[in-house]
Amino acid sequence: MPPRGWAPCMSLKVAVNGYGTIGKRVADAVRLQKDMTLVGVAKTKPGFEARRAMEKGYPVFLAGDGKKADFDAAGIPTAGTLQELLRSVDVVVDCTPEKVGAANKALYEEAKVAAVWQGGEKASVADRSFSALANYTSCLGARKVRVVSCNTTGLSRAAAVLRERFGVEHWEATLVRRAADPGESKRGPINGILPTMTLPSHHGPDVRTIFPDLPIATSAVVVPTTLMHVHVNHVRLSHPPSSGSDVMAAFRTTPRFVMFRASDRMEGTPQVIEWARDLGRSRNDVMENVLWEEGLKLEGSDLYFFQAIHQESIVVPENIDVLRAMFQLETDPRRSIERTDQALGILRVGA
Ligand code: NAD
Repeated sequence: MPPRGWAPCMSLKVAVNGYGTIGKRVADAVRLQKDMTLVGVAKTKPGFEARRAMEKGYPVFLAGDGKKADFDAAGIPTAGTLQELLRSVDVVVDCTPEKVGAANKALYEEAKVAAVWQGGEKASVADRSFSALANYTSCLGARKVRVVSCNTTGLSRAAAVLRERFGVEHWEATLVRRAADPGESKRGPINGILPTMTLPSHHGPDVRTIFPDLPIATSAVVVPTTLMHVHVNHVRLSHPPSSGSDVMAAFRTTPRFVMFRASDRMEGTPQVIEWARDLGRSRNDVMENVLWEEGLKLEGSDLYFFQAIHQESIVVPENIDVLRAMFQLETDPRRSIERTDQALGILRVGA
């Protein structure tokens, strides 16, 4: 339940711990919500990202083994320690690297603060895993929730549509994964294709933290790109409609999906990112699942479709919705999604 003394009419006080790819986006997104206040961000090291946070007016706190002297030397004032930040918020969104988040759990429990983790952590770090279109209401009032990873968010959104409208008998997905985020210089491959040698891959079980009975099996390869992931899906529907355009309409009328036409020279992920640049989207973010009309085909009960997932930003709206669910700022998922999408400028393209 929300903390004692806290009422839904108050602005939710939020901390972001870990200010990298996901953390800086979540911090900006929180700042754009009328019902939330960003109290501060926590960082271990000074650098251009901490400096940018300071320039945006975000109070910067020292996390982990971060040293005040290092920040002072870099000319970045700190507002205190992470522990102090935790004392002045209702909830912390942990955006630290994989496994660091789980190590922070004791700290959050000690501070008696509600916490949100990211998909790099095991599901067991939290009481529930979250995907807004799929299980918003089951997270109402929860204190410890994990927003699932970028790939799992993309698959769960699609599953929310297909399961509800047509039923899913069987689903196989091959995930073509980006090698690194654009800002990273230490990951690869820069040439070659790396099959993920765990078969099936962990993504299917991760989707089942959201839909426990979904018959989905996944495999993955990593390719030298930084832009987006692409999922190649084959789904056997239990109650298939008469034509693929009905499936297309189901996606098109659901928030957080955009539908493009390849014939519109939208050939693949480079054009999707260019589209986001043309829209002036912050950091070229594409928070929607991206589908193509020509990239969806129904043959009897067999549905084939591609979807592209912008790994850096797809989980950002879910990080906002999860806060509304946890603190019951909104009990209706559709209204939370609408408020989030409006604040973040998520469009209904092709609707
Ligand atoms: P990142 O490396 O870009 O950012 C992590 C930030 O945390 C860095 O600024 C790092 O310096 C900082 N940090 C390191 N140790 C810390 C500590 N002890 N305390 C506070 N901050 C610390 O990582 P990311 O890509 O933003 O990933 C964060 C989480 O989000 C992971 O669980 C990841 O699996 C998940 N995620 C990442 C992506 C993606 O594609 N980047 C997509 C979805 C989910």
